Amino acid sequence: MICLEEAQRQVWGSVAPLDTEQVDLIESVGCVLAETVRAPHDLPPFDNSAMDGYALRAEDTQPATPDAPVRLRIVGESAAGKGYRAPLRSGEALVISTGAPIPAGADAVLPLEQAQAQDGALAVHAPVSAGAHIRPKGLDVQAGATLLEAGTRLEWRHIGLLAALGLTPLRVYRRPRVALLVTGSELLPYNAPLRDDAIRDSNSVMARLWLQAWGVPCAFLGVVPDELPALTARLEQALGEAEVILLTGGVSVGGRDLVKPALQTLGAETVFWRVNLKPGKPILFARRDRQAIFGLPGNPLAVAVGLMLFVRPYLAALEGDARPEPRFLTARLKTPVHKKESRAELMTARLCIEADGSLSVAPTPAQGSSLLGSLARANAFCYLPAGEGEFPAGARVQALPFAPMESCL
Ligand code: AMP
Ligand code: MG
Repeated sequence: MICLEEAQRQVWGSVAPLDTEQVDLIESVGCVLAETVRAPHDLPPFDNSAMDGYALRAEDTQPATPDAPVRLRIVGESAAGKGYRAPLRSGEALVISTGAPIPAGADAVLPLEQAQAQDGALAVHAPVSAGAHIRPKGLDVQAGATLLEAGTRLEWRHIGLLAALGLTPLRVYRRPRVALLVTGSELLPYNAPLRDDAIRDSNSVMARLWLQAWGVPCAFLGVVPDELPALTARLEQALGEAEVILLTGGVSVGGRDLVKPALQTLGAETVFWRVNLKPGKPILFARRDRQAIFGLPGNPLAVAVGLMLFVRPYLAALEGDARPEPRFLTARLKTPVHKKESRAELMTARLCIEADGSLSVAPTPAQGSSLLGSLARANAFCYLPAGEGEFPAGARVQALPFAPMESCL
């Protein structure tokens, strides 16, 4: 049995990313950039107005006072999408809209709210400073600047920037293909009526939803009974269509736990079996050439742990993600924990943002690797390192949220 850190190192410590492909910008969300991206031009690309108002020459307005306003002749308009082509001369002003180009000669904008215009003339009652309400070319981004490093997982916020710069298509790492199969002669599909001695398969449903949330395509190859020929055949099919194989169930020590012998028959090599972890101890990780096989224990919470601690980081590393590791947060225990277990433990827990902004975490009252009810009530795992011990209320521990932090409010 190996420790969690060693197991994680063996899973994604030295993964070569998959090949790359070009995708349209809008399809790139959730993918990992395979190239460092630089700005092809300034943003904004030209000086433009930050307000609706009048473009003018600041110098002209310097003598203006409330009693002796400066009068400027309104000679035209610069609209968004249709600028004023001629240079603005001394004594002139232009109607200008937000986002419209600042014409040559103009160097300030007087907002509509502060302006008085009548009969084609603008009355300015106070000096306007040069540069007022102008968004200069390159204010946001300068041509040639590094925008995003290779290895960045693209989110909507990155893509908005890349869209403004016309950066499409993009080179990203290919998403891994995953095949999922669940083993267990007791398993029924989730939409089947219950019958004697059977339970419904919840693992495949959760695993598929996790993968969907991660944007990783998954072929679900169904439920396989605990019989060696059937299991071997289905695994062979899985190895034929995916680079990452996920199995649940059948990796423990019972006579009907047949994943290991099936993998052996198919020439896969066990990298490790059993991790000093609760839940998830009998987890199995195997390889066949460049393919990876995760045998997750059948208990639903062990599946959740296996997916979050091993599968997700492995997939992320395959996708070239510069930060594949699970993102733990530090939180204070809300209730004391007497840890009787020597294995490292992941407890179902409620992670909360307290009124003072700090994070707290409270393990659910019932803990057990089969307790889907506790899982449903939780929004995070609370991690307690290997070794028995007392964790008083207020102790700082690590927590792994299931979803974005909104669920902690
Ligand atoms: P195993 O790892 O095959 O020994 O299974 C451990 C426990 O998880 C047993 O109680 C199984 O009935 C249960 N189990 C296995 N697969 C699933 C599944 N797909 N959905 C829900 N429970 C499962
Ligand atoms: Mg089983």
